[in-house]
Amino acid sequence: MAKPGCVFLMYHEIELPGRPLCQSAAGYLRYILPLETFRSQMAWMKSYGWRGLNVGEALRYPAEPSVCITFDDGCETDLIAAAPVLREFGFNATFYLTAGFLGTPGYLSASQVRDLDAQGFQIGCHSMTHPYLSDLPETELKREVVDAKLQIETVVGHAIEHFSCPGGRYDQRTLQMARHAGFATVANSHFCANSSSTSPYELGRVAMLRDLTIEEFGVICHGRGLWKKRLQHQARRGAQRVLGNRAYDRLRAVLLGEPRQ
Ligand SMILES: [Zn+2]
Repeated sequence: MAKPGCVFLMYHEIELPGRPLCQSAAGYLRYILPLETFRSQMAWMKSYGWRGLNVGEALRYPAEPSVCITFDDGCETDLIAAAPVLREFGFNATFYLTAGFLGTPGYLSASQVRDLDAQGFQIGCHSMTHPYLSDLPETELKREVVDAKLQIETVVGHAIEHFSCPGGRYDQRTLQMARHAGFATVANSHFCANSSSTSPYELGRVAMLRDLTIEEFGVICHGRGLWKKRLQHQARRGAQRVLGNRAYDRLRAVLLGEPRQ
């Protein structure tokens, strides 16, 4: 059987005991893993001989069992919770930052970003203010893609090459804008493994959910069973297309029992 390719994992904030999360909606919590859950996943990888790579490393598609580890949003727990665990197991990762969130409560400060960068982790960009990019007029799209890149580059003092789309939403304009801005890759949240035949501007990622068991985690690393996730994902995308992003979010909030925002 052909190797299914390299799976790119998508993490968000890490939950630490006694520490409030950056956001409180039920839809947010779903993507938040307690530190111990994250640690047990990394321990599982180590014990079975898997490597944890950043996006740049993963794009070389090494033959050894590997997954790509990514974090979205730029929460402070990237540095204080995830990074120490990754270092403990000898793994790397890409941290996609929302430029406009830097220095706000719960998110990384500029000096913490430099710390992550100095530790050898890869820093990427996750827009300026975290909107759905496919909804934006051209001038706003430019600010979210081009200006955000420049802002993070000013913080770290070197080029930023990797971009991930907030909420996984993008269109062809987004990809063109990212390419023109000088990004080498764009990651979305399509449930699929990537391989050397995948466009670097349409890298799929698998969202790590809070209730994932370690067995399910192992299955995901192998790239198996992603078709089932993909079907769920397509059903959701279909609803988004019919309803539009905003109406879909309101419906989702009602279904998840979230308070009105
Ligand atoms: Zn995000």
